Amino acid sequence: MKNQSKKDSQRASELKKVLNTANYEYYVLDSPSIEDAVYDQLYRELLALERSNPNLITLDSPSQRLGGLPANNFQSVQHKIPLLSLDNAFNFEELKDWNLRIQKLLEKELSQEKDMDEMISELKIDGNAIALSYVDGLLIRAATRGDGLNGEDITANVKTIPSIPLALRFKQQPAWLEVRGEAFLPNKRFEEINKMRTANNEPLFANPRNACAGTLRQLDPRIVASRNLDFFAYSIYLPDHWKSKEFNVKKPENQAEALELLKIAGFKVNPNTEIHKNLNSVKRYFDKWETKRHRLPYATDGVVVKLNDFKTQDTTGFTQKAPRWAIAMKYPAEEAPSKLLKLSYQVGRTGAVTPVAEFEPITLAGTTVSRATVHNANRLAKLDLHSEDTIIVKKAGEIIPEVVRVLTELRTNNAKPLSLPKRCPECDGDLVQENNEAITKCINEKCPAQLRGLLRHWVNKKSMDIDGFGSKLIEQLVEKNLVTSIASLYKLDEKTLTKLSRMGQRSAEKLILAIENSKQQPWYRQLYGLGILHVGESNAKVLAKEFRSASKLATVVNESPELIRQIHGIGNEIIDSLQNWFTSKENQQLLVELMDVGLSLKATESEHIIAYNQHLDKKNFVLTGTMTSLNRNEATKIIEEAGGKVSSSISSNTHYLIAGKKAGSKLKKAKELKIKILTEEDLLNFLKQEPDLYGKT
Ligand code: NAD
Repeated sequence: MKNQSKKDSQRASELKKVLNTANYEYYVLDSPSIEDAVYDQLYRELLALERSNPNLITLDSPSQRLGGLPANNFQSVQHKIPLLSLDNAFNFEELKDWNLRIQKLLEKELSQEKDMDEMISELKIDGNAIALSYVDGLLIRAATRGDGLNGEDITANVKTIPSIPLALRFKQQPAWLEVRGEAFLPNKRFEEINKMRTANNEPLFANPRNACAGTLRQLDPRIVASRNLDFFAYSIYLPDHWKSKEFNVKKPENQAEALELLKIAGFKVNPNTEIHKNLNSVKRYFDKWETKRHRLPYATDGVVVKLNDFKTQDTTGFTQKAPRWAIAMKYPAEEAPSKLLKLSYQVGRTGAVTPVAEFEPITLAGTTVSRATVHNANRLAKLDLHSEDTIIVKKAGEIIPEVVRVLTELRTNNAKPLSLPKRCPECDGDLVQENNEAITKCINEKCPAQLRGLLRHWVNKKSMDIDGFGSKLIEQLVEKNLVTSIASLYKLDEKTLTKLSRMGQRSAEKLILAIENSKQQPWYRQLYGLGILHVGESNAKVLAKEFRSASKLATVVNESPELIRQIHGIGNEIIDSLQNWFTSKENQQLLVELMDVGLSLKATESEHIIAYNQHLDKKNFVLTGTMTSLNRNEATKIIEEAGGKVSSSISSNTHYLIAGKKAGSKLKKAKELKIKILTEEDLLNFLKQEPDLYGKT
């Protein structure tokens, strides 16, 4: 117990140090060194520690500060009404929690008035909050948020932003009025500015928000003007005496009406707002903008959900840092910190040993991850990874998560440096690191991990597409020595399979059928499935098109590799790898075994036709016989959609006859006229092919 609290106290003080430095870099230097999402996660960790042990709250804790640090270059101004931050929700559950808290606060009122809990969503513009004061309709002062109570007077700079009116557009001007909104730098300008900075050898801005903050703090307004900042207004504060008649505009009673009033006053208001009666509708809005926002000309990092009704807002009030009636739902981060639990090692089908970081689960780009690759020994050394390190994990798009950085500031005293093992963690075989190669390899060809990797690759969707082969099943088959090569997969029977754990009779039957059906996969998939180093899917397609069987390819590899070199995109590395593969006795034996169990290892006639007729463009088809999985109309539609034509009778202009069961005279005539004959299955296979099959378009 004592140990734990000592650990917590040490962690809290390290977190404070890191976060305070980050705040300084972000708010004063406008040059952050960590991602916002990483900051948010570390900040939450500190809050959780402080919540469970309030003794850890010290005066210098970033949790005790609202927002940024005022820079010294500008005059400090006090906000008439505090300019607060927003609380965050990082997923839908947290949004629900926020809503529940609101419902509790409004319990009594909700039963009396309709629509009190109506919400309005706005895009969260990733810029800088600005408060604009108007006196007698004229802009007299613009201030940054600063610490929420005092900001910096940046009036001269803000006056250069063309979308901010210097005079309000009311017929009769109010004595006082304040508008708040977000100043931002459009993406295009951000890129142009960074390009210019590169040319001038100046440090680059990390993102449009920091570029905007840096611009607003320029001492020379001419520079600000040249940057073309923009502004979206989102709140308005009116004097108590605001009379609807006087200004010909009704005093807004909710956020939606306030946005309308802002437009009338001459401000630019973001058009993408939506009113919601329930949380599901908020979720739809959030989901819709998750992808759509990338097409906007400005940066957004989430959506802001607000209670629409002003009376309800007043009832819920504020915390010290943020209004209770609003919450910022941030889009999933692609980078986040976590604590390393263990470094494990994965041996792949080529024998390459990959260090894999196992860490406390985190949410990245919307999914939970707890493992990430460290790639290889060089990367491991470069990261200088130590046990128990706080690591930064990144997941961009579909890419596998990777460890990109270590927060060395948070390293514990007894942390030990980590490196690759000296022997294979799977078979204890020798490991080698080839010259100029970052990859460390196990050179034992009998290493079970390599076989498991090859089996996984062979049954994969992109190779032989054998459904039902999970990693657990492969592990059992290899461990029990029931499968010793990809060829021996084809010798499995139902009886053997049903003896395995979690394998019933029906699953075994289905699996055997899937294995059998895989023999019909086209040649390029078989070639790709062999897992030859550097022969990825597209190289396999190109090679299979030129060399239509394994024996042809083997002959060319050995006797005339120059023919391979002539193929566009195939270089020496691939040729070396093919030569290594085809000269290995084990691999030659494997090819024989694969043919023995019924694989063709060559392109079939229809595959060849398909390969050379990528599109059905202007090809004439005739259908005959009984079709089983398609009816005539469906087949016709499919052919026509792919650019072909279907006629009812055979002529010399016919390119293909699709012959179903019990085909009669048309089949005979087609044979006489030497017209290519395809089965219904060929047609379906054809349509399943990716348009770039064999690299043709
Ligand atoms: P915030 O960015 O999470 O959200 C609050 C702000 O959103 C408001 O002040 C307002 O300016 C803005 N906003 C945009 N659109 C809005 C709309 N339609 N309605 C209302 N407000 C809208 O909080 P913050 O206090 O401005 O900044 C804290 C954040 O800054 C942290 O969560 C972190 O992501 C980032 N930060 C990063 C580092 C770093 O080192 N990377 C350091 C400090 C802070």
